[in-house]
Amino acid sequence: MTAASRFNIGLLEAAQKVPGKPRHKTREVKIGGVVIGGSNPIAVQSMTTTDTFDVEGTIKQIHALEEAGCELVRVTVPKPEDAGALTQIKTRIGIPLICDIHFDYKMALAALDHPVDKIRINPGNIGGMDRFRQVVRKAKDRGLPMRIGVNAGSLEREFNEKYGFPCPPAMVESALRYIEIAEAEGYRDIVVSIKSSDVLVAVEAYRLFAQLADYPTHIGITEAGKPPYAVTKSAAGLAPILLDGIGDTIRISLLGDPVPEIAAAFDILQATQRRVRRPELIACPTCGRLAIDLEKIIAELEGRLNGKRLPVKISVLGCVVNGPGEAREADIGIAAGNGQGMIFRNGEMVRRVPEAEIVDGLMEELARWETENAGRLATPGRQPGEAEGLGRRKLPVVAG
Ligand code: SF4
Repeated sequence: MTAASRFNIGLLEAAQKVPGKPRHKTREVKIGGVVIGGSNPIAVQSMTTTDTFDVEGTIKQIHALEEAGCELVRVTVPKPEDAGALTQIKTRIGIPLICDIHFDYKMALAALDHPVDKIRINPGNIGGMDRFRQVVRKAKDRGLPMRIGVNAGSLEREFNEKYGFPCPPAMVESALRYIEIAEAEGYRDIVVSIKSSDVLVAVEAYRLFAQLADYPTHIGITEAGKPPYAVTKSAAGLAPILLDGIGDTIRISLLGDPVPEIAAAFDILQATQRRVRRPELIACPTCGRLAIDLEKIIAELEGRLNGKRLPVKISVLGCVVNGPGEAREADIGIAAGNGQGMIFRNGEMVRRVPEAEIVDGLMEELARWETENAGRLATPGRQPGEAEGLGRRKLPVVAG
C-alpha cells in the first residue's frame, strides 16, 4: 500500500498524460500556391533587405532564401519604381510574393496592379479608413489575400488613449476593428499579425486574438535585433504562442542577412514540435561519466543525417545514467558504457556494438525504422518527412 502523500496526487492522476495542445482552428487562406491556416503546415516566411527596384539584387536574395527553404517572401514597396519591379520579380521566383506597404495607400493600389500573391499593410499608418477600404476593395477584386499587420510601434492614438499604452488588448481591438471594416466589404481573405518587440506583450496579444477570432495569424517577435540573442528572444516569444496552438505563418526578424531567419524558424517549429521535418537528435552535454567520444559521434551522425526529412527521435547519451531511459523513449537510441553502445529501437535493446560502429549501427536501425514506418510517413496531405508524433510513443500530437 502506498503511503499517503501531502501533495494532491489526485490532480496528477486526473491530468492529461499526452502533452501538447491542438492547433487553434483558423480559416484557410491561399497565398499563391501555399495554403495557410486550418491544419496546413505553419509556413516559413522572410523579407528581402534589398531595394525592391534592384530587380537582380532582389531576385538573387529571394533565390538564396528559397534555397534555404523559405516558403513565402515579402518585399517592401515604398516607391513607384518598387511597384514597377514586382512583375519581373514574380516571374523569376518560385515562391509566393508578398508586397509590404506602409504609409502610402497609392503604393498599395499600384502594387496590386502586379501579379503579387498577397498584400501586407499596416492599416494604422495607411491614412484612414477610407484609404484602407479602397485597398481592401482592390484586393478583393483581384482575389488576393491581405495581412492586416498591427504593430505596437504604430498603434493608433485612440487605442493608446483608451488602454493607456500599446498593450495586448489595445492591439487586438485595433486588429478586430480593421477585420470588421474588411468584412463589411465582404472580404475575408485575411491574415493577422499583432507584433511587438516585447515578448510578454506579443504572447498575450496573440493569445487574446485567438480567443476572439478564427483568422490565421502570422507570428513573430518584431525587431528582435541581432543574432544570436535575437534568435533566443524569438524562440522565447514564439514558443508559448506555438505551444498554445497559435500561428499559421512565422517569421524570425533578424538584423542583417535574412537567410539565417529560415533555419531559425524551422528550428523553433521543430523544437515546439509544430513542424517536425528532420530527425530530433537527443545528446547529453557530457560530464565526467562520459564513456565514449560523444562529440565525434554526434558530428558524424549529423553529417549522415543531413538532408533526411524524417520525424524520428534519436537519442545518443554518453553513459548509462539516463542513456537507457532516453533510448527507450526515443525511436532509436544509444546508451554508452565501457567503450561500447547498447542500441535500442522502439523501446527494446536490439544489440551492442563497439564504439567505432555506433554511427553505422544507428544508421542501420534508422533504415529499419523507415521501413517499419513507411505507411505512417506517407500519410496523405502531409509534406514529405512530416508525420504525427515524435519518439516511440508518438508524443505529443504534432499538427502541421
Ligand atoms: S548521460 Fe552520462 S555522460 Fe552524459 S551528461 Fe549525463 S551523466 Fe554525464
